[in-house]
Amino acid sequence: MGEFMRLQIVQIGEEVLRGQTRELSRDEILHAKTQDLIEHMRDTMRAAPGVGLAAPQVAIPLSIAVIEDREEYHKKFTPAQLLERYRQPVPFHVLINPRIVAQDGGRQEFFEGCLSVTGFAAIVPRARAVTVEYLDEHAEAKSVEAVGWYARILQHEIDHLNGVLYIDRMRSRTLMTVEHLERFWKDLPVSVVLNKLADQR
Ligand code: ZN
Repeated sequence: MGEFMRLQIVQIGEEVLRGQTRELSRDEILHAKTQDLIEHMRDTMRAAPGVGLAAPQVAIPLSIAVIEDREEYHKKFTPAQLLERYRQPVPFHVLINPRIVAQDGGRQEFFEGCLSVTGFAAIVPRARAVTVEYLDEHAEAKSVEAVGWYARILQHEIDHLNGVLYIDRMRSRTLMTVEHLERFWKDLPVSVVLNKLADQR
């Protein structure tokens, strides 16, 4: 097992964030280099901290993402906000060559940010629920049906693997600094924020 390593997270403007990633073969997944990369991505995500990290964010154009939503990240939200977001802890796991195979027609809108768009947040509509098929770090086929915040994280990370960022999907008039989100908007219902900032629904 390797040592703790924090990789550099690249910011928008780096071409790697806009490219298509390459899928991995079973042998590539099991290779020590990939296993080390996964560990380093986990360490980097935790140090950030963030709930997800995709390989292009560390300048590697491979179809790998890591996800973990720890309970300690939920402290700054009220129980009502967590309930509204269907946000529950998600244990650490690795997604390789993931694919969204089904999604719920219902859409939910919440503020979202990205480690590669430092300092900003915007309201982003996302499917309420998704089914994702992927390989895990042992190259075993898995399928997950996710709802709420976990479904949002999956959509965000899988977008990264296709060169798509939340800013491509956001309600652009709600883009703001994280500082202003915390100061003015964080505790208001999203419908109120949209009423005040967005000119159409
Ligand atoms: Zn991101």
